[in-house]
Order: sequence, then C-alpha cells, then structure tokens
Amino acid sequence: MTRVSITAVKEDVQPAFARAMERAGCDGIIAHGARALVKPNWNGVAIAGSTSLPVVAAACQWATEQGAGEVIVGEGCVPVGKQRIEDYYSQMGYRERLRKLGVRFVNFDEDEHVIFCDQPDLPPEVGIAGLALDADVIVNLPLLKVHSCCLATLCLKNLKGCLRPQDKMEFHRVGLLPAIVALNRIVRPQINVIDAINGMEGEHNNGSLVPLNLLIAGRDPVAVDAVGCAQMGMAPEEVPLLRMAAEAGLGVHRIEDIETVGEPLIPRRFERVQERLKRLCPDLQILNDGACSACEAALMDGLYVAGGSRTVASVAMGKHSAPAPRTLVLGKCLQDYWPSHAHVKGCPPSGHAVAKALSKAGE
Ligand code: SF4
Repeated sequence: MTRVSITAVKEDVQPAFARAMERAGCDGIIAHGARALVKPNWNGVAIAGSTSLPVVAAACQWATEQGAGEVIVGEGCVPVGKQRIEDYYSQMGYRERLRKLGVRFVNFDEDEHVIFCDQPDLPPEVGIAGLALDADVIVNLPLLKVHSCCLATLCLKNLKGCLRPQDKMEFHRVGLLPAIVALNRIVRPQINVIDAINGMEGEHNNGSLVPLNLLIAGRDPVAVDAVGCAQMGMAPEEVPLLRMAAEAGLGVHRIEDIETVGEPLIPRRFERVQERLKRLCPDLQILNDGACSACEAALMDGLYVAGGSRTVASVAMGKHSAPAPRTLVLGKCLQDYWPSHAHVKGCPPSGHAVAKALSKAGE
C-alpha cells in the first residue's frame, strides 16, 4: 500500500523533515554521490504563496546527510518579468541560506531545456529543464494551496516550473489538466513533500495563510496530493487532476488505498477560489463561454490587484461569449467586440492590464 506521512513541525523544521522522510520510507532513495534536485514552488509572484525557505533548506540538508554528492535547488518562475522576479528572490533572501549549505541555485529559465515535440496532450513543442531530466533524484516541494483551475496546486502541478516560460501559457491553451498529467509522465520525482506549515486558501498567490504546521510526504506524488487535498477538505476523487493522474498510472488517489502514518489526518476546510471570488465580489457578473484557464487566471490576478477600486460589474471571456453592452471583454478571443466594448488585449491579457481596466472601464 502506498504510504504518506503527516508530520508535525514544532520549532525546528530540520528534525521534522527528517522524521517525515523516515516515516514515508524515503530514507535510502538518494544513493551515495547522487545528484539531487530540490524543486520548490518559488513562483516569482508572492513569497507567502511560495514554499518556505526553511523547508527548502531542510530538504537540502537532509539530501546532503543522505549522501547526495550534489544538491541543487532549481526553479523557473511564472513569467512576470525579470525585475519582478529579481525583487522576489532578493526579498526571499535564499542566496545566503543556500550558500551556507553548499547548495547551488539554478534558474531554469537561464539553463538548458530539452525539447519534446508532438507528445500527446502537450503543446506541439515544449522545453523541459535538463536538470529535471538528468537529476538522479528529484525532491518535489510544493506549498499546500488551492487553485482556480486545478482546485489544488500541489506536487503534480509544481512540475510546471520545469518548463520554458513560453510553454507555461501554452499549457493553458491546450488544456491545463491533461498537459500537467503528460508532463508528470516525463518528469518523475521520487520524493514528494508538501509544505503545509502555512497553507494558502482563497487564492494561490494572494490568498490567506492557514497555519497547520505540517509536512505531508511520500514517494507517490498522486497519493501525497490526495492527502494534501483531503487535508484541505476536498475529496480526492472529486479533484479531476488527481483522477486523471491516477487513470494515467501515475499513482493512487483514493484515501482508502493510502496508508497515512504519523499525525492523524484532521481536515481543515480551505476556502476555494470561486468562494472567495463570490465573497469579495458578490455583484460581479462573469460571462465565460469557452475561455481557457489563462484568461481565468488573468481575471483572478486583475481582481486581486484592483481590489476596492473596481468599477466594472460585468466581465466576459471565451470565444463563444456574447457580451452585452457595458461589459468589459478580455482577450483576443473576443476581439470582434473590441470596437464596441471596453477591452483588454492579449492572449492572455496581463493581470495588471485587467486590473487597470476593471478600475477604469466602468467610469
Ligand atoms: S484570449 Fe483568453 S481565452 Fe482566448 S485563448 Fe487567449 S488566453 Fe485563452
């Protein structure tokens, strides 16, 4: 039976991380002298919505103690612009911490990618970080968070950071969920740990923190995600990404097929993205017929940035939508309406441009 450990983190993360690994049966996976890649969720957008630095440091230290010959932390952020990413990393202050541990950081965007063409469910061409394919062991290290398109963004989705910047948006256009499953067929982390010290509810970058002080760990990324979802009060069999990954043979997603060890699983229901949207914007009408998840994500970003300055009450997206007058239309799919409607160009439009339009278009 697949095993997933749930481990309480008291003051120090390091002993808790080692305990989580031992309980999950991960000791011994890293062979002496092996190259280990630690892949956090360092999204470049919000530190609070990122895997915490102490957890990343604990993973690096554990990998070294297990006998790794080289430990690398690798990530490719959301493409939000070089300056914003630099600001994000300098605010995080990872350099000094990793340097002390003798660990190298690799920005995947500046490193080599291996090109894959015409793979089922993937864009016609994608580039995957060479390090993620060459590493002897990958320690996959996401944060416990909800997500607008996937319901939860955990181990399976965390691998999107291994893609070239341009491929990340293409995933939304071809179909995010099947593309994530296809990516997980190519990149296969052997160790999967969810940082659930402070989870995030309501939104995946700018939501509210939920202190749980837990690590959720195992070898099977689907099972670890299933326990993560259950921890957030979601039934894993009702999470489409988990169901699809299980059907693809990537792991097991039914809680009854997973042995949980360590602390008991006590769900704390996380507010879903759509619930937060309704709570914060009860008057907002969203017409969405056929939009891909990239436009949905841009709207979420825009609403967050616009906050209380929003003046627009009606938004449309997706190529099959027929927006009424005075509706703000998003994206290239609705360019036929640009001459007659307030609109945001782009495919997808940027979150900041959407925020600006949300604050101005209704004036
Ligand atoms: S305009 Fe929006 S919905 Fe249309 S393809 Fe582009 S990102 Fe997707």
